[in-house]
Amino acid sequence: MSHIIHRSLRRTPPVAVSGEGIILRDSKGNSYLDASGGAAVSSLGHGHPDVVDAMHAQIDRLAYAHTAFFTTDVAEELAARIAYDAPGDLDHVYLVSGGSEAMETALKLARQYVVECGQPQRHLFIARRQSYHGNTLGALALGGNAFRRKPYAPLLMDVARVAPCYEYRDRADGQSVADYTASLIAELEVAIVAAGPENVIGFCAEPVVGATGGAIPPTPGYFKGVRALCDKYGILFIADEVMCGMGRTGTLYAVEQENVLPDLVALGKGLGAGYQPIGAVVARDPIVQRLRNGSGVFQHGHTYVGHPVAAAAALAVQRVIQRDCLLGAVTVRGASLRRLLRDAFGAHPHVGDIRGRGLLWALELVRDRDTKEPFAPSLKLHEAVRTQAMACGLIVYPMGGTIDGERGDHILLAPPFVATEAD
Ligand code: PLP
Repeated sequence: MSHIIHRSLRRTPPVAVSGEGIILRDSKGNSYLDASGGAAVSSLGHGHPDVVDAMHAQIDRLAYAHTAFFTTDVAEELAARIAYDAPGDLDHVYLVSGGSEAMETALKLARQYVVECGQPQRHLFIARRQSYHGNTLGALALGGNAFRRKPYAPLLMDVARVAPCYEYRDRADGQSVADYTASLIAELEVAIVAAGPENVIGFCAEPVVGATGGAIPPTPGYFKGVRALCDKYGILFIADEVMCGMGRTGTLYAVEQENVLPDLVALGKGLGAGYQPIGAVVARDPIVQRLRNGSGVFQHGHTYVGHPVAAAAALAVQRVIQRDCLLGAVTVRGASLRRLLRDAFGAHPHVGDIRGRGLLWALELVRDRDTKEPFAPSLKLHEAVRTQAMACGLIVYPMGGTIDGERGDHILLAPPFVATEAD
C-alpha cells in the first residue's frame, strides 16, 4: 500500500518512470503519448536536454540561498527576461513555486497596493463563475467551481461572481457576438456598482479559461470592455495566465491577443514546463512604485521564492522557446490540431463544441448535441475518459464541472510545443 495521500485514496496510479519528448513510460513498460502535458504543463515535452543541462549546471553551482539574505544571478536574469518579454510596464516579478502561490501572491499584492493607496476599505475581489485559480484558500475562494469550494466554505473569503464568457452555451440564438459581449460587460458593471466600487480591489479572470471550462477563448472585445470598466472604477485587473500563459496560445501572454494590459499577471505551469515547480506574479510599475515609496516592503514570502534551480529551469525553457521559434510552432501545430479535431469529432453525436487557441484545445461532451444537454455528473465521465485513454496509451485531461463548476464535461488537449505533425 502506498504511503502517499494520492488524489484518490482508493487507488494508486501507475508509476511513471521515464519520459522522452511527447512519450511517458510507466514501471510496467506501458508508454503513453502525453497529449496534455499533465494539465498544460510540459510545453517542451519530457527530458529536454537544454533544460536538464541548465538545471545540472545550477545545482553544481548553488542549489539554494534564502532570499532574506541573498538574491542570485539566475533569479535576477529570469526576472529581467520575464519583464523584458512582458507587454507594457509589467516590469516587476515575484517568483514563487506554482500557480496557486502565484494567485495568492497576486491577491496579497493587490490588497497591499490599495491599502498603501490609502483605500483600506477595498476588500472585495470579483471573479467569474467558470474559473479555476488554484487550491489554496484564497485562490480556491476565487474559483468558480462550487463543488470544490463546498467543504471549505466557512474558511473562504467572500467573492462577488459574474457570468463567464461562454459563448457556446450562453449566447442566445440570434444574439450577435457583440451584443452578447456587451451584456457580459454590463453585468460586470452591475456587480461593481452593487458591491460599491470603493470596496472592490480587483477583477480576476483567465484570459482563456482552462480546467474549469475547457479552453474557452474570450469573445472579441470582451477584455477591452473589462479593462475599460476597471479603469472607470479604479479597480485592478488580475489576469490568471497560469494555464494559458507562456506561449500556450501562440503568444507569450494570452492577453496580448486581446490588446489589453492587466495590472497583475499570474504565471505557472509553462513557465518551468514541469522541470521544476515555479510560478510568478508580474506586476505593473505603478503598483510596485507605490509600495517602494510607501512601506518599502511587500509583506509576503515563502521559503522557496526565487529558487535558483527552478529559476535556471524556467530561464532555459524561455530561451528554448525563443531560440527554436516555438511560438510560431504553437500557431502552426494549433491550426493542424484544430483541423484534425474538427475532422475527427466535428460530427460526433456527443461532442457539442470544439474550441481553443494555439495548442490549448477542448472537446465539450454532451448527451445531446441539439439541446446541449450535459451528461449526468453521477456518470463521472471524466474519470471514465481518463481511464480509457490511458488504457489506449494516451494522456488527455478530462474534467467535469464545465457548467457552474458542477455539471458538464470536457476533454482538454495541450500537447508540447515541440510536438510534430506526426505526433
Ligand atoms: N490558475 C489556473 C488558471 C490554473 O489552471 C491552475 C492549475 O491548474 C492554477 C491557477 C493553480 O496552479 P497550481 O496547480 O500550480 O497551484
